[in-house]
Amino acid sequence: MSKTPLKSIAVFSGSNHGFNPAYIESARALGREIARRGMRLIYGGTDKGLMGVIADSVIAEGGEVVGIITKLLFDLGHMHKGLTRYEVTHDMRTRKARMSECADAFIALPGGLGTFEELFEVATLTQLGEHHKGVACMNISGFFEPVRTLFNHAVAEGFMKAEHSEMLIYHTDPSVLIDALEQWQTPTVNKWIGSAQKPV
Ligand code: AMP
Repeated sequence: MSKTPLKSIAVFSGSNHGFNPAYIESARALGREIARRGMRLIYGGTDKGLMGVIADSVIAEGGEVVGIITKLLFDLGHMHKGLTRYEVTHDMRTRKARMSECADAFIALPGGLGTFEELFEVATLTQLGEHHKGVACMNISGFFEPVRTLFNHAVAEGFMKAEHSEMLIYHTDPSVLIDALEQWQTPTVNKWIGSAQKPV
């Protein structure tokens, strides 16, 4: 299968560090791998939590980091000071749209509501065919297993096709995760159960 090199990757992650030190270590490892491959990191622009950790890690390796932050958070002084470039958006919706436009693929690290919302939104757009971009979860210490269980539940209950529940990539190794995103192919079924194949 041919590989499409990804130029920009958006990472969604917690604005807290989490209790398990493995989360911080994994955010650092993902940052190193993104920089090693010469890919641009797109993220929420803050110095807080795992978001700050991954930005620091890419910057320390000489990589490119683009922060897209809302005016509210910018005015609160949450902006990371060492970024290659940043954008300040009017609100969270505009920010998510800009992050989505700027990225070729998406990775979620452990996080809270903000991370889940971003992860689910980009996966929804992939499912609808609004964009054709792969979505992955860095499944540190099984953090995303409940998401996998929830998707399987939605399939079992007739609200989601298996192809869509299986389109998310789960792994703990950043290199495996990015390789899988480069090889990822958009599902060829449409969203609605019992309806025809999506024209490709
Ligand atoms: P959470 O997972 O709830 O900590 O939220 C993380 C996500 O929400 C990030 O990917 C950001 O988009 C957004 N977010 C939450 N707090 C901040 C912050 N201090 N600065 C920038 N973005 C934030």
